[in-house]
Amino acid sequence: MRKLKNSVWKLKTPAEIEILRAGGRRLAQIMDELTRAVRPQIKTAELERLAREEIKPAGGRPAFLNYQPAGAKRPFPAALCVSVNDEVVHGLPGERQLIEGDIVSLDLGLEHQGMFTDMAVTVPVGRVSAAAAKLIRVTVRALELGIAAARPGGRLGDIGAAIESFVSGQGFGLVREFGGHGVGFRVHEEPEVPNYGRAGQGLELQPGLVMAIEPMVTAGRGAVQTAPDGFTVRTSDGNLAAHFEHTIAITRHGPEILTRI
Ligand code: MG
Repeated sequence: MRKLKNSVWKLKTPAEIEILRAGGRRLAQIMDELTRAVRPQIKTAELERLAREEIKPAGGRPAFLNYQPAGAKRPFPAALCVSVNDEVVHGLPGERQLIEGDIVSLDLGLEHQGMFTDMAVTVPVGRVSAAAAKLIRVTVRALELGIAAARPGGRLGDIGAAIESFVSGQGFGLVREFGGHGVGFRVHEEPEVPNYGRAGQGLELQPGLVMAIEPMVTAGRGAVQTAPDGFTVRTSDGNLAAHFEHTIAITRHGPEILTRI
């Protein structure tokens, strides 16, 4: 969900980052539970149910449920985005059963004490093909490299350039229509954080900037289309896609991953 509902972009204070750190840790714990629940035969609606159940005890709120991105015809009806195989992002949980060999991307936003973090992972369902496993590895690495490039004094383009050069060097496609974003006061804020770009270009990265970095990588060309449900984004060529996302804060010392246990 990339489209910005409001243009809010303000650096976060250390106290605000402390809240985001706590929320991010909780989100990472929930994502860990969801990842463990992925198995052949589970219905995607079951993962949605589990996500809502896990969010409740800590007093958090699912950030995507009823979220209406600018331009969308209706609000998103689920807490969890569940995108299987050629689905890239924004898949709707439902009656579909996962089967051995699938890969499933889980994307969850959490509101914790009024502040937002965002995270996604792609999980293999049982044993998957070597090609699918490689796609997942490359996407994890692309995220790591994007995060490593998010240094104070650097530029926004450093992040996209790091992701793009790595992914294209691996022979995979990069989705360009969607990307990362500022996050914290809202689930989607400015600035947009594309997964491509030129090093040294764009906004200067400053301590207190909090953003979601989220490469979406495909085994094909990277072109995507939105399904008739209005949400699910699929690869146009039907190839597999993987998606990993962390919420990070830029600190004086470098990037800090907030969505970790
Ligand atoms: Mg996001």
